Amino acid sequence: MEPAAGLRRDIEAVRAIAKAVPDCEILVDANNGYDVETAIRFMEGIAGIPLYWFEEPFHEKPDDWRKLHAWMKANGFEKTYRADGEYAPDRAVLDSLGREGVVNLRLEDIMDLGFTGWRAFLPDLEKRGIAASPHAWGAGLKTVYTGHLAAGLGNIPTIEGVTCGEDEVSLGENRIVDGHFLASSAPGFGLKLV
Ligand SMILES: [Mg+2]
Repeated sequence: MEPAAGLRRDIEAVRAIAKAVPDCEILVDANNGYDVETAIRFMEGIAGIPLYWFEEPFHEKPDDWRKLHAWMKANGFEKTYRADGEYAPDRAVLDSLGREGVVNLRLEDIMDLGFTGWRAFLPDLEKRGIAASPHAWGAGLKTVYTGHLAAGLGNIPTIEGVTCGEDEVSLGENRIVDGHFLASSAPGFGLKLV
C-alpha cells in the first residue's frame, strides 16, 4: 500500500475499533514497518485513545526508540507499553533500552527461547521492571504454551491469542472465556490429540 494511504488506514482502523469497543484495550503492531516520524504521526492520529501497547514500530534503532519514548511521555502515551523483540531481536540493544526504561516489554518467541530460556529470563526481567509477552504467532499451540507460562510465572500482562482451527491437536481442557485464557491443570498442557 502507498505509505501515506496506509498510515491513514492504520489510524482509521484504530479509531473505528476504539469507537466500536470503547471498553477494550487496544494493542497495535507495526511489524517494523514505520520509521520514527511515521510512528509519531500515527500516534498523533489516534490522540485521545489510551493505547495499551505499541509493538515493533521499527527495527531496533536506539536513537529512534529514545525519540519515540520521549514524544510518548510528553503527549499522553506515557502508560503505553513499548514492546519489542519479536522479529530478529538484537537482544543486547533491547537490554540496553530496557535499562534506560525505553523498551519495557519483551516479545521474544515462546519457542525460540523455549521454556528453559523463558524461566530464566522472566524473573530477570521482573527484577528490572520490564514485562514480557512471549510471541505466539505461527501456531495455535504457542498461545497455549505462553498461557501456561504466564499462569505459572507471571510478569506477562497479556498474551497473543492465535486464532486457528483444530488440526492435529485441540485446546483440550484449556478454555478461553470472556477473553481470559483458563489454563488446564491436566498433564501435557491439557492438550488433546484430535
Ligand atoms: Mg508482532
